[in-house]
Amino acid sequence: MQHYVVLSRKYRPKVLDDLIGQDILARSLRSCLDTKKVPHAFLFHGIRGVGKTTTARILARCLCCTGVDGKTDVTSSPCGTCRSCIAMDKDQHMDVMEFDAASRTGVDDIREVIDAAQYMPVLGRYKIFIIDEVHMLSKSAFNALLKTLEEPPAHVKFIFATTEIHKIPETILSRCMTFQLSPVSATALSNYLVDVARKEGFILEQAAANTISEEAEGSVRDALSILEQATMLADNAHVITADTIVDLLGGASSGDIEALLELILDAKTTEALVKSEELMAKGADPFVIFKNLQGALYRGIVDKVGGKLAKYSLSNLLYLWQIFLKQTENMKNSAYPKYVLNAAIIILAHTASFPDIEKLMVKVRPEDETAAQQENAIAQDNSKRLINDVLNKFPGSVAREVE
Ligand SMILES: [Zn+2]
Repeated sequence: MQHYVVLSRKYRPKVLDDLIGQDILARSLRSCLDTKKVPHAFLFHGIRGVGKTTTARILARCLCCTGVDGKTDVTSSPCGTCRSCIAMDKDQHMDVMEFDAASRTGVDDIREVIDAAQYMPVLGRYKIFIIDEVHMLSKSAFNALLKTLEEPPAHVKFIFATTEIHKIPETILSRCMTFQLSPVSATALSNYLVDVARKEGFILEQAAANTISEEAEGSVRDALSILEQATMLADNAHVITADTIVDLLGGASSGDIEALLELILDAKTTEALVKSEELMAKGADPFVIFKNLQGALYRGIVDKVGGKLAKYSLSNLLYLWQIFLKQTENMKNSAYPKYVLNAAIIILAHTASFPDIEKLMVKVRPEDETAAQQENAIAQDNSKRLINDVLNKFPGSVAREVE
């Protein structure tokens, strides 16, 4: 039986050129290696899943490669054939040590690292310590580490990785060359997923790739993990459709979400509730619907100029955004997320039916005041009618009628 390797491991980049969506980082590292200006400590920071540990391993490979002749200096393009490169590929390099600071935070744990640093490397030219989640180290552990960082042995290199750079003491930071890994752009991630799927013998539809990238929020690891699950649900023709991904993620398609948001913004409460019930009946999770609605509104606010939501007033959209934030808390605390979702839709649609705040602010002259009052009264009447209409269609979802 063939040994199964998860996609994120199978496609883990081995050289700087293979890093996804980290062009600036790759260029800086290449220049640092090619000019042989190699610091004692590197620090990689960025959100989870963007490739910090992967980059640390690639860097270790570059620092340790001795070339086919056994004499090559540090390089930005490791040979892949020397003993050091082969040991790296097998995760068995005796001079490269990985240490997870999240599970080993104490001063005694870090002392082990410091003690090991005293010994000379066996295979490569350096002993390399990759310390993941370095921000988790205790204060005393940082102090112990600092002593070694201040006067490191010439054969030692540290590579730190963290998601929370602000938690790292300034004294440590000032001794590291710092690199930020950016979240991988949705386009780069989508293209990469289509490519990986093809290598695995699947056709990943572009819309499906986009949905995965959106869900993964810039994390390559998360994206590959979703793709991996999707390959198990693919049809006989090995095609992965957007619908497969939507079902897998317990959500609704981006088209459905945009349609629902537009019904809310147009204050079409009844239609919006019918649509949300329909999506839930198809198996969509209320949490995911809510989260996706929020994402759609966010994107609408950000690219409002010329975007799909251009016809709505920005101040109203921002006001709805506040309501979303508030309702998110309600949803988290509720045992009935379905009801919270529908109630939130009523509130949002009701708010969207208010007259444009910007226009109201212009009406300051006395003769306009009456017009404003009339407009308000009409809006209030409309919303009462809407809510009562909704209550008739969905009895039991809200306690009593609006008078
Ligand atoms: Zn090599």
